[in-house]
Amino acid sequence: MVSTLDIEMQTIAESGLKNVDFQNLSFGKVFSDHAFLAKYKDGEWKDIKIVPYQNLNLSPALMTLHYGQSIFEGMKAHRTEKGEVVIFRPDQNAMRMQKSAHRMCMAHIPEEIFIEGMRKLVELDQLWVPQQEGTSLYIRPFMFGSDEFIGMHPSDEYTFIIFACPVGAYYGKPVRVKIETEYVRAVEGGVGAAKTSGNYAASMYATRLANQQGYDQIIWTDGKEHKYVEEAGTMNILFKINGKIITAPTGDTILDGITRKSILHLAKHWGYEVEERKLSVNELVEALENGTCEEAFGAGTAAVVAPISSIGYMGKDYPVPALTENSFAKKAHKYLIDLVKGRTADEFGWLYYI
Ligand SMILES: *Cc1c(COP(=O)(O)O)cnc(C)c1O
Repeated sequence: MVSTLDIEMQTIAESGLKNVDFQNLSFGKVFSDHAFLAKYKDGEWKDIKIVPYQNLNLSPALMTLHYGQSIFEGMKAHRTEKGEVVIFRPDQNAMRMQKSAHRMCMAHIPEEIFIEGMRKLVELDQLWVPQQEGTSLYIRPFMFGSDEFIGMHPSDEYTFIIFACPVGAYYGKPVRVKIETEYVRAVEGGVGAAKTSGNYAASMYATRLANQQGYDQIIWTDGKEHKYVEEAGTMNILFKINGKIITAPTGDTILDGITRKSILHLAKHWGYEVEERKLSVNELVEALENGTCEEAFGAGTAAVVAPISSIGYMGKDYPVPALTENSFAKKAHKYLIDLVKGRTADEFGWLYYI
């Protein structure tokens, strides 16, 4: 579909590309030349434009700085081996952004603005999409309440921005995780399913304590009983137990990850039995002890698949078998990487071509 969205273009005089060391990219510190901006005011989206990447000029009374009405998304543009630029399932991110906005009482962000803004930005900054295996251009759409007013109510005005950062290959060494039994990330009826800033602020303290104990990440458990496994801080968690792929069902307390969803789709397509159900910590620990837990891994846009090497619970660490070439997680990871590199046919229509 050809978009008729009218985007005002202010392009940069000289690209910053030549100053970037693509061999040594650290995540999220280098930004491409441009950003996409749109403002919601008086009930409609206006001032839709692409400008040189630059600082914002904000009021100290900016609503979101005080009350956290802020949501975001994350996706990646990849360069295929043939040199095309593709994005993995951005329609899903657009839909999730709408759900997050709804939950946080924020303006509805039309799919056309989300997708066409992203497309135009990535098209303009396409030289920033690196080619090397494992590298990509990370795309960060976000929206915040921008009333200049510290009264406590949903903002009337919103700012939607998309910017992008080239990111280096992710050499994810297997992570040590800890099952959290004191602090909570989300509760039923809360905002755990929204990609909203407060969820991340709320998770930092427990994560820092876990880091001090030598763990890389937390596996959150349910907020009521700490009895069921939910997800990690920025990734969903999946297991292979007795040959079955098992993961917690999404709902109020779990972020509906697009990587998770895609991996479950592959599992079903490849004939694995898939169970989206509550998995108790007891069942998991037992499976780790008796060797029926064959795989444990995180799933999210950043790492795609993050193998877990050990799971800590109540002061004891349970090792997880290392992934092999025949592991489900390895196969799913390879499929998703081959797909965005153009080495595998796009049989499910998951690629969006710029
Ligand atoms: C973003 C996120 C995920 C992963 O979602 P993807 O769409 O796969 O990137 C999982 N859990 C949390 C809490 C997240 O914020």
